[in-house]
Amino acid sequence: MAKLKNAMKKRESKPFKELLTALRARLRGDVSGLANAALNKNPAAGSGSTLSNHMADMGSDQYEQDFSLSLMANEGEVLEQIESALARIDAGTYGACEECEGKIPKMRLNAIPYTAHCVKCAEKIQRSG
Ligand SMILES: [Zn+2]
Repeated sequence: MAKLKNAMKKRESKPFKELLTALRARLRGDVSGLANAALNKNPAAGSGSTLSNHMADMGSDQYEQDFSLSLMANEGEVLEQIESALARIDAGTYGACEECEGKIPKMRLNAIPYTAHCVKCAEKIQRSG
């Protein structure tokens, strides 16, 4: 990919890389925690000693399970955005809008470090659905 003139220098994007990495770690922790809760109601069973009892409970918690899994889907979307933001940092295109190649204000990146668009383009994309 060609260098974007509005993209951040590596040195500039470093704090954002750290922020995104921390965010990703936290989200991954939440996702796996939810996955455990959704798949196994017994927190002690994670020790690997036995898988015996929890099969009997399955089905009774269907609603809760669906709810947890739909939460995970949303977090998965954010995770994807974080991953591509980290990829943009490595490619040296982070900080430039993917739509108009304009500079994304640092204030916006501080609020949403994984955004790929400036405010104007994000609004345009949202409106077009
Ligand atoms: Zn833009």
